[in-house]
Amino acid sequence: LLEGVDIHKSFGRGRRRHEVLHGCSIRVHEGECVAVIGGSGSGKSTLTRILLGLETPDSGVVRFDGEPIGSPEGLRRLRHTSGVVYQNPFASLDPRWTAYRSVGEPLRLRRARHQRMDTDELAARVSDALRLMALDPSDFLDRYPIDMSGGQAQRVAIARAIVTGPRLLLADEAMSAIDVAARLQILDAFAAVRARDPRMGMLLVSHDLGVVQSIADTIVVLHDGVVVEQGSAAAVLDDPQAPYTRGLVAAAT
Ligand code: ATP
Ligand code: MG
Repeated sequence: LLEGVDIHKSFGRGRRRHEVLHGCSIRVHEGECVAVIGGSGSGKSTLTRILLGLETPDSGVVRFDGEPIGSPEGLRRLRHTSGVVYQNPFASLDPRWTAYRSVGEPLRLRRARHQRMDTDELAARVSDALRLMALDPSDFLDRYPIDMSGGQAQRVAIARAIVTGPRLLLADEAMSAIDVAARLQILDAFAAVRARDPRMGMLLVSHDLGVVQSIADTIVVLHDGVVVEQGSAAAVLDDPQAPYTRGLVAAAT
């Protein structure tokens, strides 16, 4: 579904130039949940932005459905069929908008572009998305972000990311600005999304292996801009190969 091959990326100029990604490759298949794990500054967000076409790699290629996203067609396809969730829900939700308006916005944009969808259907789809997030629509539709907890706001943000039924969902540290109990609800929310759309590909970025190990099919460990480990979640957790991963597994269990 989505793949990045041998991605290199540097920041800065001249003597201050430093390479942040040293040839990273990653793949997300249809229906697969991939967790990218790594410490702060390891390059997770940079890699995610490159995979989304928000940043250009120095070398390497990103393909969506086999089409390089360097091409306008590839980028268009990726943008129209992926949902994104960021770390801080209060920064990603407009404070002036109710949950109804925020979650309905991607549907409204779509309707403006091409699809026929009447207001009842739009409202029903917004409510369905909130329910999937275990948020009662009668309680949340008219709420503003300021009247939500961090965990509730993040679930509204996820509802917005999935309301159009994207083929790919990317979440960068979606669970880290949130306390432990609410984190489990977010994990449940991702699991509910997978149960509803088993073909959706997911890429969950986290610095915490413990948080994502229950949901990930595949774990990719990034350390200082290098993929040091990549494999099925069971294999990585039972028998980590890289010394860095062994440390993570020991700390997570
Ligand atoms: P965190 O867990 O803290 O979110 P991360 O793994 O997401 O970290 P990145 O945000 O990808 O890490 O950053 C990797 C490195 O790239 C860091 O050293 C950061 O300072 C550097 N970097 C990222 N974006 C830029 C930029 N626009 N300009 C210069 N340096 C950058
Ligand atoms: Mg980051």
